[in-house]
Order: sequence, then structure tokens, then C-alpha cells
Amino acid sequence: MSFYEAIDPRFSAFVMFNAPVKQLAAGFDWAEGPVWFGDANCLLFSDIPNDRILRWTPGAGLTTFRSPSNHSNGHTRDRQGRLVSCEHGKRRVTRTELDGSITVIADRFAGKPLNSPNDVVVKSDGSIWFTDPHYGIMTNYEGHKADQELPCQVYRVDPSGRIDAVLSDFRCPNGLAFSPDETRLYVADTGRMYHPDPQHIRVFTVDGTRLTGGEVFHTISPGCADGIRTDTDGNLWSSAGDGVHCIAPDGTLLGKILVPELVSNICFGGRAKHQLFITATTGLYTVALNRQGAQTP
Ligand code: MG
Repeated sequence: MSFYEAIDPRFSAFVMFNAPVKQLAAGFDWAEGPVWFGDANCLLFSDIPNDRILRWTPGAGLTTFRSPSNHSNGHTRDRQGRLVSCEHGKRRVTRTELDGSITVIADRFAGKPLNSPNDVVVKSDGSIWFTDPHYGIMTNYEGHKADQELPCQVYRVDPSGRIDAVLSDFRCPNGLAFSPDETRLYVADTGRMYHPDPQHIRVFTVDGTRLTGGEVFHTISPGCADGIRTDTDGNLWSSAGDGVHCIAPDGTLLGKILVPELVSNICFGGRAKHQLFITATTGLYTVALNRQGAQTP
């Protein structure tokens, strides 16, 4: 079997024909939110329904990092290397300080509780950008069922702590990623739960704190884009129904990494940020690429 499907000839240089898509661990219900800690040589990721954050260490395997995790979903690291997490259960974004204490970054907007923060990125100016769809409050599976009080928006938290809604015309914003030079922000819209909404990735031009544009960049098929990341050449890597798709900066689908389970999210890590880690329903997978992740640190 092949692990790859090249749509465009450029894709063949991005993969090693003999590098396997390997399952590292299994037994989760909905694995999500992978984030690589190079300095600690480990990967953290969420198992949302089981209310835990797991740690995978090369050679040592799986241990529990935090449980309960308030049904955490997406994670990233800030420029100081601190873990920044979205929590469905407490409907907030938090930062885990280097001493292990937890700081709440955002839990309300305009006096109302957030829905269920889903995914998060940190820009080089220290601002924290996160999506707030309603998936974690629609049922008791990935959080706690509750009334939705705010639209599904994208927020920016200034280093001063000020929270602004920066995108309000989404059905359900989900994964998000900056281009390596931070002139673009990609945001996936995965549509409202139980609605036949369009599902696609939109692209915005970033001008300081302002976003313009917002046209549809790419529509993933089969499935939809959940977690997304960029590599150092500006290619966008997206979760999809049949694996991970690689999309050129002009929106062209270049190729696919085929994964036997529905993929939720991805991140680059490993020795040279050349290893793609893939959370896919019940399993954690990895594949070595001839690419390098752009995300920091
Ligand atoms: Mg997500």
C-alpha cells in the first residue's frame, strides 16, 4: 500500500516514499490538539471525551499529563514556551505557567461566557488568537451541554489582556494558522453541528491587529478541515476525512498523506520539526516529512 497520494508533482519532494505513517498509540475516543515540546522531547495532546491530556515520549510511550483536563481541545505554545490550551469544560483559554499554575486568558466576552474554545495560535507579538465554535456545549460528549450565549467567533487577546472579536462571519470557526511571515491567517469553518453548512478554509490578510479579505482558500474533500498548520515554505497542511492534505499557498491541493482514521488535528515536531504528528479519532500517528513546520517555538 502507499501512504501517499500525489496530486501535483511538487508533492513527491515533500515526502519520503519509504517513510511509514505509523501509529504511535491508540485507545482514545477523540484525540485532538497535538503540540510538540522539543525541549522536553515529548508531545502533548487531548483525548476530549475522556477528559485528559496525554503525553507521548519517544522511547517511553504514553503517560497522563493532566486529568481531568476540563475537556481540553486545541493547544499551542507561546513564545516563552508555555502551554496555551482551549478548554471546552470550563469554556475558557488558559496558560500553564512554567511552575505549573494555571492562568485564565479568556473565559468571557461582552459579559457572557464563551462557547467552547477549540483551537489557538500565538502570534510573534504575543497576541493569542482562538476560535470559539459551539461544539463543546451542544452535547455532553466533549464537554457540558449548555445554552449558547455568544455567536461562534474568532478572538484576539492582546498581551495587555484586552479581548476583541476579530471575525464574526463564521458558522463555526475551528482550526487556525498563520503563514510563516504572519501576513496571512487561515481559519477553517467546519459548520454548525446538525446543519448542512459549507465547510472550507478561508484566508485573511493580516495588518497588525486587523484582518481583511476572507475569501475561500480551499475546500477539503472528503471530510473537512479541522486542525491546520503551515510549513516553512508556506504550504498549508490540513486534517481531512481521508488523512492529511497539503495545500500550496495558491490554494492548489498538492497531495495527501493517507491515514486509516478520521483526522482531527496535526502538528510538526521531532528533532528538526520534520515529523508530522497526527491525532486521528482513536489513534496517534506520525510520519517523517521532507518539510519543516513553521509554528513556534
Ligand atoms: Mg478543532
